[in-house]
Amino acid sequence: MSTPTIGVLALQGDVREHLTVLAEADALARPVRRPEELDGIDGLVIPGGESTTMSKLAVTFGMLEPLRAFVRAGKPVYGTCAGMIMVADKLLDAREDQETFGGVDMIVRRNAFGRQNESFEAAIDVAGIPGGPVEGVFIRAPWVESVGGAVEVLATYDGHTVAVRQGNVLATSFHPELTGDHRVHALFVDMVRRARD
Ligand code: GLN
Repeated sequence: MSTPTIGVLALQGDVREHLTVLAEADALARPVRRPEELDGIDGLVIPGGESTTMSKLAVTFGMLEPLRAFVRAGKPVYGTCAGMIMVADKLLDAREDQETFGGVDMIVRRNAFGRQNESFEAAIDVAGIPGGPVEGVFIRAPWVESVGGAVEVLATYDGHTVAVRQGNVLATSFHPELTGDHRVHALFVDMVRRARD
């Protein structure tokens, strides 16, 4: 099996951290800013940052429809925090003109934990990840308010869903790229390999 090439959407957010962790998880990682750059990748990470800004920049750079098509085509996508917001089919507490790429039949509430706690860390057990809980870094994080029947809930915290998967789309409320633990990225790299081979 050759090494998969995984893009990191580089409109805004913590792109560099994802590039580093993906390389450590045995993927070829590269930033993606333009529609034509989607052609050469086997999967895509959507980083954390600010989803309202990411939405605006996706429109400005002509990336909104190409990214929707990428997800619809069944290409693997992993969204962290703002990236989770971007793969949600529906949002709560969004800005009125905020767009998403969609892909996961779920309703995500922006800044949900932020109302209680701006940022915090917690040990999170994620289904499918061996070796004990991962350290979840939550920064003005969203949670998943509800999911449709095709969505697998992979992790909860304090009664709220914080990690999900639907087909080839994975999303976490937290930021595994900030912890030095590659296991969530390794799970995604494995999804990309299976989708491609
Ligand atoms: N609160 C941010 C948003 O709504 C997400 C924060 C993050 O990605 N760390 O986009």
